Amino acid sequence: MQKVPFVTLPQLREIRESYPTPFHIYDEAGIRRTARDVNRAFAWNPGFKEYFAVKATPTPGILKILREEGCGVDCSSLTELMMSDRCGFAGREIMFSSNETPAEEYVLAAKLGATINLDDITHVDFLERTLGYIPERISCRYNPGGVFQLGESKEGFQVMDNPGEAKYGMTRSQLFEAYRMLKAKGAKEFGIHAFLASNTLSNDYYPALAGQLFELAVDLQRETGCHIAFINLSGGVGVDYRPEQPANDIFAIGEGVRRAYERVLVPAGMGDVAIYTEMGRFMLAPHGHLVTTVLHEKHTYKEYIGVDACAANLMRPAMYGAYHHITVMGKEDRPCDHKYDVVGSLCENNDKFAVDRMLPKIDIGDILVLHDTGAHGFSMGYNYNGRLRSAELLLREDGSVELMRRAETPEDYFATLVW
Ligand SMILES: *Cc1c(COP(=O)(O)O)cnc(C)c1O
Repeated sequence: MQKVPFVTLPQLREIRESYPTPFHIYDEAGIRRTARDVNRAFAWNPGFKEYFAVKATPTPGILKILREEGCGVDCSSLTELMMSDRCGFAGREIMFSSNETPAEEYVLAAKLGATINLDDITHVDFLERTLGYIPERISCRYNPGGVFQLGESKEGFQVMDNPGEAKYGMTRSQLFEAYRMLKAKGAKEFGIHAFLASNTLSNDYYPALAGQLFELAVDLQRETGCHIAFINLSGGVGVDYRPEQPANDIFAIGEGVRRAYERVLVPAGMGDVAIYTEMGRFMLAPHGHLVTTVLHEKHTYKEYIGVDACAANLMRPAMYGAYHHITVMGKEDRPCDHKYDVVGSLCENNDKFAVDRMLPKIDIGDILVLHDTGAHGFSMGYNYNGRLRSAELLLREDGSVELMRRAETPEDYFATLVW
């Protein structure tokens, strides 16, 4: 689909007077729209809840909007738990899906009443030793190993990922054993969690995963006598970063999961199982822009456009070669007849937001919008080269702009040093 920014050039010029670029800006209306769509797509399941993956966008202003829309949070660290607590999430609104977990994180998760999702069978004993008990409600993460693939065509598989190479989760036999151990130690309500593929562009990913997990749940309940209360499809639903990619249809996805549910769980007498999701990218990526100003043009062996943002503000292109669409504001209707590398200032040659990208002729001072940066954007930021994290702004539904996080200052950068 054609990528249209949710802010206009005059709006950005005005915002830039109060908040210099680079900055991340988020679209409240879009966030609410997606959250409502997700809840409607799964409304057939009375227990449904989306636990937003906090790591995607750990920003209280965003988490509070999602909470108003009925979402919970999925945390995986101490500070994510602390932030969720301060945003008003409590008890069953918090999922704690961590790995290589320090004891103090389990202590806080239990204190907040979060649902703990164990990544490994050895954590049954670790959790019991840490807390002194096993919570009545508990979840385990499953990893079937091997390769996960879907939708073979001449171009290859629609979805392909490699759970067998992933550090997460338990094998099938470990899962059965963990359930038996947990039950013997007093657990009463059980959940199953699995994350088998990342950034999937297919309406079949969740339904295929759900089918596997539902069959597993039936076996688990029969063989161990544990009551399966919920099945957590976790994250992995992708977004169309490229304009030519097909977008996921959350209603088709919800309907596909419903069909698997009717086919597998209902006949097994398990029609009371709640479905959970932990989407980060799908919820937020399209609703964030990284806004940056062109500082320099350089003509050597290639044509370079130097901007005031860098990989420290958005790491995905440098880290994964990820594509983020770029709009040159005010030049949307001009022909894309110039080939550029759009680059940041890091002393690292992978600090390129785009390589050989066809764009309209760019001039110094132009404002560029990098699309789909609302998830795994700001949050993956870092301070390499002494670069500072940017501000995060919220475009309210009424068109006003609010500061959610100020930009870092050199004082912040020096604050942890012992001279
Ligand atoms: C990262 C993560 C998610 C969210 O993944 P997305 O691809 O952003 O949807 C969900 N659950 C867990 C456990 C994660 O680590």
